[in-house]
Amino acid sequence: MTTVTVLIVEDERPIRDMLRFALHASGYQTLEAADSSEARMRLAETLPNIILLDWMLPGTSGIEFARQLKREELTQTIPIILLTAKVEEEHKIQGLDSGADDYVTKPFSTRELIARIRAVLRRTDANDQDTVLQSGELRLDTAGHRVTLKGETLSMGPTEYRLLAFFMAHPDRVYSRSQLLDRVWGRSVYVEERTVDVHIRRLRKALEPHNYSGLIQTVRGAGYRFSLSD
Ligand code: CA
Repeated sequence: MTTVTVLIVEDERPIRDMLRFALHASGYQTLEAADSSEARMRLAETLPNIILLDWMLPGTSGIEFARQLKREELTQTIPIILLTAKVEEEHKIQGLDSGADDYVTKPFSTRELIARIRAVLRRTDANDQDTVLQSGELRLDTAGHRVTLKGETLSMGPTEYRLLAFFMAHPDRVYSRSQLLDRVWGRSVYVEERTVDVHIRRLRKALEPHNYSGLIQTVRGAGYRFSLSD
């Protein structure tokens, strides 16, 4: 079994200490940074398997840093869990829109956090079989973890990639939000149904070049469908 490395980006030392302790106890390796510029230094040395990112950081905020990481080719597939003290719904959505894969609200139990880390890693590691899925001029190659449209590589986050792979493997069928959560996210009690909408929006955006965003169709009152026909 390969060791999973977690980068902790958190300015409060007691929380960093607590996270390090809990992660080591669960067999994870850790890297630490107190802000985004320190995190940059860690990332230049080692690419972690997952990043725990505090929302309220001095300097660049966690949200802004997540956006940066999801824009950069080297780091865009690394899952991010935001650590946030902000509980308002709107802020959660903003957090997910930044590209984060999940968030936990402080104060959280380390047990809950470890469960979330496992769930996120399960989701993003699920592309284990090498297959090529093809729909029209859209092509998804699981071996290369690459999506191309008319030969051009599309960039998308790990959750959007998973979602697209699921849709392409199951075209022309309607799936409800809860079915998508089960099939794409795995049975995690923590994820809310509206999370699906956030990632559908991001997936459509990724498919926008060449007007392919219409492939993901909203079926009112039912859910979503992937189809090449209107
Ligand atoms: Ca903080």
